[in-house]
Amino acid sequence: MFNTIIIRNGEVAIKGENRPVFEKKLMTNIKKALYGMQGYKVYKGEGRIYVDADPEIMDQVIDKVKNVFGVVTLSPAIKTEKGYDNLKEICLKVFEDAIENGEYKTFKMDVKRQNKSFHMTSPEMTKDIAGYILSQNPDVIAVDVFKPELTVYAEFRDNVNIVYARKIDGVGGLPVGINGKVATLLSGGIDSPVATYMASKRGLEIEAVHFHSFPFTSEKSAQKVEQLAKIVSLYTGNIKIHMVNLLPIQKEIAEKCPEELMTILSRRFMMRIAELIAQQTGCGALVTGESIGQVASQTIEGLTATNDVVKSMPVIRPLISFDKEDIIKIARNIDTFETSIIPEEDCCTVFLPKRPATKPKLEKIYKAEEALDVERLVSEAMENATVVDV
Ligand code: ATP
Ligand code: MG
Repeated sequence: MFNTIIIRNGEVAIKGENRPVFEKKLMTNIKKALYGMQGYKVYKGEGRIYVDADPEIMDQVIDKVKNVFGVVTLSPAIKTEKGYDNLKEICLKVFEDAIENGEYKTFKMDVKRQNKSFHMTSPEMTKDIAGYILSQNPDVIAVDVFKPELTVYAEFRDNVNIVYARKIDGVGGLPVGINGKVATLLSGGIDSPVATYMASKRGLEIEAVHFHSFPFTSEKSAQKVEQLAKIVSLYTGNIKIHMVNLLPIQKEIAEKCPEELMTILSRRFMMRIAELIAQQTGCGALVTGESIGQVASQTIEGLTATNDVVKSMPVIRPLISFDKEDIIKIARNIDTFETSIIPEEDCCTVFLPKRPATKPKLEKIYKAEEALDVERLVSEAMENATVVDV
């Protein structure tokens, strides 16, 4: 019975001239999310965004649209031609659908009249329609105008009638792409897919960089990362993954540097390479899934050491103060958790030091790196990188 969806993008921070840009991007992203389906239309009308959809795909469309960043709430609605008798009938329909799908003891009608030439005022119509609904549903529900459990909204407009009741939560955030593009360091773990999701939620388009140690890490562990990117891309839109083999670098570190610095030195190379890829692909920042104190390399000193090599852009760490349980909650919500916990070897575990340095001093790191031809190692890794589009 519903033939359209009202989209609300309530972000209060979207002021004045940004608004049209925001809405345009949101509409584009909704269309992208629905790409491949038949029987829908996305457009602006009456100052807001609508998605019309055929009844047989309505539920599916709602499921997709509510996951588009920038959609704060949405309401399935009926939009029909103007006329008061018509309005009364669809109010009854929407009411009956609502009470079929939920437990309500009280309700109220909310009628807004745009058509001022009509002989009834809004309060008169409200009373009349509520009375009509009650007469058709005796002993089912009572009117409560102050704290109703259910409100049926009716808009009596010049050209159309619009009626809706249910409000469904969307994911919120800002439309992807509105704030530019970032490169996320995507591992096969739990954290980085969540960090990617959260960065994207603030309107950032995603380019991903993954480091493997093939053939020490398997083809399957690379596929796992692709699978994770695919799940996250349902929210973020298309993701390109730059696959970089870190093995030659790790081998050289293992050969020439103190063992306890293995992890931290590898991570510095990851950051250097990610920064270069970011620069080449028009990204304005790096994103990682780091969180303070979670593992040996994520102490303040560890973060200082990895941060130190990134010279031209900020490193965004959306999870910096999150507890693991809270990260897992989001991972479950966005459906990455089950994939993340599939046991696969990671490039960092291949060369895991017995006792990793937890408070690495920069001077010590610089000293260790003197044994390496950093520039050559970085450029060789870049030359051998491949790109996967998910
Ligand atoms: P995750 O669950 O995201 O793997 P983690 O708790 O295992 O995180 P680390 O292994 O220390 O933490 O990695 C910290 C961050 O460094 C990750 O969140 C990710 O952004 C980046 N990172 C680690 N390993 C890789 C990798 N193989 N490829 C790309 N980025 C990586
Ligand atoms: Mg990891």
